[in-house]
Amino acid sequence: MSEKQVTHEQLVAWLSRLKLPTLAAQLDDVLDVAANRGLTHREFLGMALEREVIDKEARRVSIGARMARFPFRKTLADFDHSAQPSVDPGRVRELGTCRWVAHAENVVLLGPPGVGKTHLAVGLGMAAIDAGHRVTFRTALGLVNELLAAHSEGALEARLKELCKPKVLIIDELGYLPFERDGAHVFFQLISRRYEKGSVIITSNRAVREWGEVFGDAVVATAILDRVLHHSQVLMIRGESYRLKEKRQSGLMKSALSSPQPEQ
Ligand code: ADP
Ligand code: MG
Repeated sequence: MSEKQVTHEQLVAWLSRLKLPTLAAQLDDVLDVAANRGLTHREFLGMALEREVIDKEARRVSIGARMARFPFRKTLADFDHSAQPSVDPGRVRELGTCRWVAHAENVVLLGPPGVGKTHLAVGLGMAAIDAGHRVTFRTALGLVNELLAAHSEGALEARLKELCKPKVLIIDELGYLPFERDGAHVFFQLISRRYEKGSVIITSNRAVREWGEVFGDAVVATAILDRVLHHSQVLMIRGESYRLKEKRQSGLMKSALSSPQPEQ
């Protein structure tokens, strides 16, 4: 069999069967490049496998990002540190290595609206996906509603299990609206299940000491805080909203461009 002529169709069928779609699609090109450059068998195999591996990795990252349900796709590299001096670039770079994920530590991003909390959370989530981890993004309110709905259908246990699977769970916008009592309770159950097993990233516009009001119950709030903060890195972000700053700067640009005309 090995020395018989193999048709193009047969090769493509085998590559598809082996789940090597890139090679199946690029077979002609790969063979042409090998022939034109006079590659050795080893070089040919290396080039062919490398193409497949690069594509496979890109597919994995793209599927991972889609499954995470990010509100937007931004990376840590897209974060403009010169516009945000209160965030230490070295610390962000270190977080980008995902060592904290391996140790099931948490990251808490605090600061006023528009300073880049969600951007950094998504960027850290993308870095975790790149590193091979599963990531899920939810708003705090969406998450609690999801848990309460599951609870009322008698499916809370299954939902909690599902939400414990991703290595990183991003909980965005904690504190924009206070939870109902039942909400704080299901939230506590989730945090307590993930404690020391999987990482959580929480973003909030409220100081940690105000979380009691957010959860509407000081005892539950303390229990949640205890677990979230035990192994955690807290980043306080200050400054004005990036969007407003951009707007203001473009406003300035415009007025500079349309300099006042001399009086007629
Ligand atoms: P927050 O979650 O703190 O309210 P966001 O992360 O949603 O703020 O940021 C608002 C917008 O501004 C987003 O589009 C984000 O990508 C952008 N942004 C904020 N800070 C920066 C920054 N330092 N560099 C680049 N883009 C930024
Ligand atoms: Mg946000």
